Amino acid sequence: MERGVEKEKVEKIIEHLKAKGLQPVPLFGVERTVIAVIGEERDLSVSHLESLEGVMKVMRVVHPFQLVSRETQPTSTIIEVNGVKIGGDQLAIFAGPCSVENEDQMESVAGSLEKLGVKLLRGGAFKPRTGPYAFQGLGAEGLKLLEDAGRRHGMATCTEVLDPRDIDLVCKHCDILQIGARNMQNFMLLREVGRTKKPIFLKRGMSATIEEFLLAAEYILAEGNPNVILCERGIRTFEQYVRNTLAIATVPIVKELSHLPIIVDPSHGTGKPSLITPMSKAAIAAGADGLMIEVHPNPSEALSDGAQSLTPEQFGKLMEEIKPIATAVGRSL
Ligand code: PEP
Ligand code: MN
Repeated sequence: MERGVEKEKVEKIIEHLKAKGLQPVPLFGVERTVIAVIGEERDLSVSHLESLEGVMKVMRVVHPFQLVSRETQPTSTIIEVNGVKIGGDQLAIFAGPCSVENEDQMESVAGSLEKLGVKLLRGGAFKPRTGPYAFQGLGAEGLKLLEDAGRRHGMATCTEVLDPRDIDLVCKHCDILQIGARNMQNFMLLREVGRTKKPIFLKRGMSATIEEFLLAAEYILAEGNPNVILCERGIRTFEQYVRNTLAIATVPIVKELSHLPIIVDPSHGTGKPSLITPMSKAAIAAGADGLMIEVHPNPSEALSDGAQSLTPEQFGKLMEEIKPIATAVGRSL
């Protein structure tokens, strides 16, 4: 509160806080009066307090998220899908094409990835494209192709769900549900996937703060689904050389704030094949629990994101190059 705020105003605010069942502790300084407030945060609204006469500023000292917070759960969450642990010592590597296109493509890519030890197969069946005339994905048919390829090659599958009406269908065919960057704040969709029993792969919105990212995860946990895998995939900045600015600092920040596992996607995070391996190394060195990499048998013919897709050979090289980094930070591949 500003200097000179009359005593009655301070008293009025204190009464107001007490009436809400909170414990106000006033500190009368020379320059200003500060009222520390102890109590249940949900019992007060910051904007309401700010509107009270005499109040200059309201500052929050506790996080607005709870279930995802490391303060609530100090031990890191490990999510198990088809025998694969996400968030443990072994890094979780998700790989596969941006879009599921046809059976040959899926067979070819899944076969190559299996040989490289990949246990988590990605592929979009419902694609969130910027324009309505771009390839939108094969839908239900794509889900089946992904499921079959995963089954043939012993991999768990991950695919994006765009619409709450598709959740049941996606759950029938797929092991992990992806919420894409564009839907990170689609709160109805977050609540609906929070009611499923499948792990949720939640990508950071391209203009979302880390707090907003964690609050999106909080929506899912609040509905009863504790299995959320966070994914940093880059944010939009003024930089033009890369498709997105991959914020590697998100990894250690999220590790401090939350017990949830965090994966890095350097494919969408950079948009450039030459940058994917260096950023994968950086992600692992920073403590990421794994990677998501777009791999296509023939990137130049891909129906989406071909320009950032690695060939299986390039991806095999990436796997070799990240090994020493993983070892150095006490992780295995
Ligand atoms: C994707 O994983 O193919 C995708 C569309 O990612 P994002 O939501 O991060 O753009
Ligand atoms: Mn993509």
